[in-house]
Amino acid sequence: MLRSLFGRDWKNSPAHLLLLSKFLSPKAPADFAKKENWASLLEESPEKAIKRFLDDRMIELVSLEELLEYKCKVTELKKLLKQRGLSTSGNKDELVRRLVQSDPEDMRKEAAGLLVYKCIKAGEEIAKKYVTGENEKKEIIQRSVLDALNKRNFKEAAKLVANYEASRLIPRGVNIDWKNYDTSRDIAMLTAIFEHKPKMLAQLDDRQLEQLRTVAAMMYLWSYSYADYPLPPDFKTGLTIANDVAISMLLANVQFHNEIAECRKSQAEWKGVPHVIEIYNCNDNLVCSACKQIGRKYYSLKDVPELPYEKCTCEHGCRCWITWSTDITSSKT
Ligand SMILES: [Zn+2]
Repeated sequence: MLRSLFGRDWKNSPAHLLLLSKFLSPKAPADFAKKENWASLLEESPEKAIKRFLDDRMIELVSLEELLEYKCKVTELKKLLKQRGLSTSGNKDELVRRLVQSDPEDMRKEAAGLLVYKCIKAGEEIAKKYVTGENEKKEIIQRSVLDALNKRNFKEAAKLVANYEASRLIPRGVNIDWKNYDTSRDIAMLTAIFEHKPKMLAQLDDRQLEQLRTVAAMMYLWSYSYADYPLPPDFKTGLTIANDVAISMLLANVQFHNEIAECRKSQAEWKGVPHVIEIYNCNDNLVCSACKQIGRKYYSLKDVPELPYEKCTCEHGCRCWITWSTDITSSKT
């Protein structure tokens, strides 16, 4: 395997291009090279690959200023400035510049041993082209996933994501076997997202709900945060809560229904021994009075109010949650 690389150009090796793209911004190989299995991906050590990039004038060591900027937090820079009786005002750039101007020797010592590289022009062009190509590939898959979600073909949606991850050099997640991925959990989750309509979101029309559900499903499937996959900026629900909160309420409702289903299953397994459900609140002053009222109380499966609580007026949405047990002796409130 090792020999094969030397017979060809590293520019045709996706692993080398991925590594090069790490240096689009200043980066110390020590910070990432060990985390992933770079040596087997590259079919040579990352050090060797980096030497190729240096020899081919793709990357360079960063300046002392950039090195300090990379290494030190603002608080550390201010500490160094204070120790030298220098002003601590200004942004990070200015703090670094002041330190290097006043004490270059000491600053070199401060950053000694840390190797940080960044792309130079030729490397930047190649790396950007690679990143753009990869993003385009992902966008095509994303569109197919959206299509599958629209058709309620959840198995297809989950499989598309799994196949995409399996095709990547460094797939998402730890110890996930994307090649033999079991989609059943995803299918159950997606079904629940598109099935439940939380009372709290009762005033939304079908179109609004569909959009919220689609974003929630994409966040779930791709492990996105809302910032990675937001709704269009002009999307309005008419609710007092923000769009990202509305989506988290949708997901909280799915979680609630999952818990209730588990509780019901357990109750059946216990031959009908009554289960008790307790509602908990966050212990802070952001909890609204409606949520406080239902919190710290015990309920049966029949009378537990749905979460997120429909009467909740918390700015950041209802953060109540439930636990359940068979322990009826502690259920007296
Ligand atoms: Zn509330």
